[in-house]
Amino acid sequence: MSKKYDVVVIGAGPAGYIAAIRAAQNGLSVACIDEWQNKDGRNAFGGTCLNAGCIPSKALLESSELYYRAQHEFKKHGITTGEVGIDIAGMQKRRASIVRQLTGGIAGLLKANKVDGLVGHGKLLAGKKVEFTPVDGELQIIDAEHVILASGSAPIDLGIAPFDQQFILDSWDALELDAIPERLGVIGAGVIGLELGSVWARLGAKVTIIEAMDNLLFMADRDIAKVAAKDFKQQGLDIKLGARLTGANVSNDVVSVSYEGKDGEHTFEVDKLVVAVGRKPVTDSLLADDSGIQLDDRGFIVVDDECRTRVKGVYAIGDCVRGPMLAHKGSEEGVMVADLIVGELAEVNYDVIPSVIYTAPEIAWVGLTEEQVKASGRPYKTGSFPFAASGRAKAMEQTSGMVKIISASDDDEILGVHIIGPMAGELIAEAVLALEFSASTEDLQRTIHAHPSLAEAIHEAALAVDNRALNYINR
Ligand code: FAD
Ligand code: NAD
Repeated sequence: MSKKYDVVVIGAGPAGYIAAIRAAQNGLSVACIDEWQNKDGRNAFGGTCLNAGCIPSKALLESSELYYRAQHEFKKHGITTGEVGIDIAGMQKRRASIVRQLTGGIAGLLKANKVDGLVGHGKLLAGKKVEFTPVDGELQIIDAEHVILASGSAPIDLGIAPFDQQFILDSWDALELDAIPERLGVIGAGVIGLELGSVWARLGAKVTIIEAMDNLLFMADRDIAKVAAKDFKQQGLDIKLGARLTGANVSNDVVSVSYEGKDGEHTFEVDKLVVAVGRKPVTDSLLADDSGIQLDDRGFIVVDDECRTRVKGVYAIGDCVRGPMLAHKGSEEGVMVADLIVGELAEVNYDVIPSVIYTAPEIAWVGLTEEQVKASGRPYKTGSFPFAASGRAKAMEQTSGMVKIISASDDDEILGVHIIGPMAGELIAEAVLALEFSASTEDLQRTIHAHPSLAEAIHEAALAVDNRALNYINR
């Protein structure tokens, strides 16, 4: 006898498991299918984010930053230590333990919400039927009123530098290295390249990053990118811009990397090479030929603004559909779809999705960059405040960076907030809320911020928009 659910979700990453939980909270019977297998052979819920992305990368960023600060900052605080060392096995054990706790937590959350977590492969057939192949057990056909596809993404494998898991690595391999490579090459100065490059550089690797674009962080505000470029250089990251990979060869345990730069062809050698040139949607064996689901020319599942596919009752969310590949974007789509299924009003505000890069200093923004506002033709004003003038940042010994706010000249609406500095990823939440409520800079100016706090920099940047900064000389 085939099983039947109100909702079957394929994929238990941050898009899929959140959709499953919300659908169950909405009173629906739900199954969530996932086949993720970790390198130790263990199956786990949580997808890329928990097993090989957001969480393990932040665990290593934290460890490596503490190590770096112990070496470079403790003396300034008057703290003396013996020689500071790093035990990579210990660091990796901590990373693995955080991942195990959190992925186990998702299994617990699914259970507590009465979602059937099914371990194995899911495939959408015609007529909203799902073929489920368990890791152990027999193939089953499940009937669903609604199906949510949340199959996520995987690293792009460049044919000219194919992953071999030993020398030419994807981001997951690079998170699980058991020794510090003396020389590390990274292809792509995108989010992964910068975060993972920072981890291994802080631990002592000589890191060279090549980036095809002429501008560092082309998606960020130019003023922010300039500060980032200076800081990354100081930290020893050698970033070559306008440099496109042309080949990578492994011989005698050394990777020889060639690239086309502004002034011709170059080659350098590294011990490990990480290729981080973007990710592609996962749809392998996900859809039967007659499922009716449409893919675009880059392999993404085609959906409308409410994540509906062409097939009534079938939705797709997260990295396998258009939009930024971010965990919180996928989760919000999951909540929206689960609410739409029970007839509630729901939407995702795609204009107000925060971006955070967890380097040191952190980089975070929401809304439009100054370049985008300029191109739109809308008159605007800007204000900024440097962390060098923040008492809290000084006390923390983290004064690099600034907050920049862009707002409309006509009605003062905040159009974009850009932060580079300590805890930027936390500070941006205030800006996200402001944009969500269409706040003006005056609203931020009139909001009391605790003293001394990093958030005061947002207050002062809002004041600076009208040349009224109180703790900084307005220019
Ligand atoms: P995924 O997390 O990829 O999950 C999809 C799941 O579906 C997987 O478990 C997969 O095994 C399963 N699946 C696929 N097909 C099938 C099938 N047919 N049957 C059964 N199961 C299937 N984003 C952030 O917002 N913040 C960060 O700090 C951040 N850091 C990152 C760091 C790294 C190194 C990487 C690689 C990514 C990072 N991301 C970050 C991106 C984030 O991980 C993704 O945006 C997010 O995981 C996407 O969620 P998802 O649920 O759509 O897909
Ligand atoms: P990305 O798109 O951020 O960056 C890839 C970079 O590689 C680009 O700058 C691109 O110009 C460059 N590139 C492409 N081909 C090249 C070539 N042949 N030679 C040299 N450079 C080349 O992709 P990513 O860093 O792989 O990250 C993938 C996704 O994961 C991103 O969409 C990101 O949103 C997500 N992610 C998010 C976070 C976060 O939110 N903190 C962290 C990691 C990953």
